Amino acid sequence: MNDRAQLFEAGMPADAIDARPAARQPVALGVEEALARTRLFPFWLDNPAEPPAEPKLTSDTRADLLIVGGGFTGLWAAVQAKEQMPELDVVLIEAGQVAHGASGRAGGIISTSVMHGLPNAVRVFPDDIAELEEFGQRNLDGFEETLKRYDIDADIEWNGEMTVAVDPEHVAHLQADYDLHTEYGHNVVMLDEQATREQLNSPLFAGALWSRNRSGIVHPAKLAWGLKRAALKLGVRLYEHSPLTSVTDEGESVFVKTPEGGVRAKRVLFGSGTAKVGIADINRRVLQVRDHVLATEPLTDEQLARIGWKNRQGIYDTRTQLNYFRLTKNNNIIFGGLVSYHFDGNPDPQQDQQRETYYRLAQAFCKTFPQLSDVRFSHAWGGPIDYCSRGSVFAKRYLGDKAVFVAGYTGFGVAASRFGAFMGLNILFDRQSPERTLDIANQSPTYIPPEPVRWLAAKVTFHAFDGADAEGGWKRAWIKGIKAMGFPM
Ligand SMILES: Cc1cc2nc3c(=O)[nH]c(=O)nc-3n(C[C@H](O)[C@H](O)[C@H](O)COP(=O)(O)OP(=O)(O)OC[C@H]3O[C@@H](n4cnc5c(N)ncnc54)[C@H](O)[C@@H]3O)c2cc1C
Repeated sequence: MNDRAQLFEAGMPADAIDARPAARQPVALGVEEALARTRLFPFWLDNPAEPPAEPKLTSDTRADLLIVGGGFTGLWAAVQAKEQMPELDVVLIEAGQVAHGASGRAGGIISTSVMHGLPNAVRVFPDDIAELEEFGQRNLDGFEETLKRYDIDADIEWNGEMTVAVDPEHVAHLQADYDLHTEYGHNVVMLDEQATREQLNSPLFAGALWSRNRSGIVHPAKLAWGLKRAALKLGVRLYEHSPLTSVTDEGESVFVKTPEGGVRAKRVLFGSGTAKVGIADINRRVLQVRDHVLATEPLTDEQLARIGWKNRQGIYDTRTQLNYFRLTKNNNIIFGGLVSYHFDGNPDPQQDQQRETYYRLAQAFCKTFPQLSDVRFSHAWGGPIDYCSRGSVFAKRYLGDKAVFVAGYTGFGVAASRFGAFMGLNILFDRQSPERTLDIANQSPTYIPPEPVRWLAAKVTFHAFDGADAEGGWKRAWIKGIKAMGFPM
């Protein structure tokens, strides 16, 4: 149908047609141009609503509970500890600023599962699925109740999560996932190519699995800042720009030093992700992978109409080098998913600053949404993923059971971190709770080989990721081999 026919159908008088301004064609920018004004900084943190930093720790102090790390794990631990044990004196130290680690850099897709999804739960703890599913539901109940209780507005939209097949061959995998989710009572729908494109229009999409269980999207920094406010309101003493520099087990207590002070605590919860905190065993079980993200400028209504997305789901695709994407409140697209590994888990890798990384990610965006060739990217950033062989959170005791370390979300911790902190506190304070009878609380992920094997294996794996879908061959075989060794891909 041409413009003239459309206008006639809409009942516009014929003589109005020639007076109408010519429809503007989008001007394709090219990837270089689309990235020309991009700021290398997380979109979520580039916000004047960020609360001011709390003071540094500048003296020695005592606490019943010290929490190390001001990301979701540490913040949820602080809030839950004070709510459940108000008599505790709780101190939280953060090396930089709250939410400047993985938490304020996340895509912000909220998953129902505490296990990095049902298929991963089946892979890791096949005998405990019913309980793990229940933990996921209760975790989200508690998540929602807490946000209401403290009036935390984090732009949440419960529109579900959708996995889109980028190759007709992948539809069979989605069908298998559909069957699995249906078996466990999830509210899921399988979409064919046309129905998928009606939800979100990309020439790549061949089908989709849309989970309408409670899941969706959140502004991760606003969530973290809200939890920070709640922790302060509950009486947590919070110190920013106060990194742990050493840990000493003093028998009855633990002494944690910072550059200008220290905390002597009866118990310590480490919510420090992949950082090195002086306990070598931790970094044998988790390794830091960097993931990278782009944010577009806000789409106009007309640009958004080109791709649809009326239901605003959080999306993952089925590429081996997975991409995930979502809308923000103002209709910027957050488009993430290009992983890299740096020797010994370098926390500040150069690659986060390199245009080449974002150029490749922008190319993936353009392939996914060629209709948006006139859209610029406003922000680009990288962040740490705490990868472990279990692919989901674990909590392990250290320092004569006076400390517990909680991490391992492997890229899925936005909601699961509340459960991780809950389980960590139960272990640390030796409290009875349903999860403590299960392997999830009593087993830890296996060791990952040390450097330089780690670096070499990661390099080959990420090189394989890049061509596995199109080329297959040794790349696909290598990834299969790594999976067979028990590492989630
Ligand atoms: C790019 C990216 C996209 C992601 N997208 C999603 C998503 O869409 N959905 C999802 O569910 N998950 C996602 N994740 C994962 C999610 O962000 C994490 O699982 C979650 O934020 C982990 O929270 P955390 O508190 O354990 O870690 P962090 O947020 O990293 O917090 C750890 C904190 O410890 C501090 N710290 C470190 N060392 C010290 C020290 N010595 N002393 C004091 N403090 C210290 C750090 O500064 C940091 O603030 C994503 C992650 C990344 C990086």
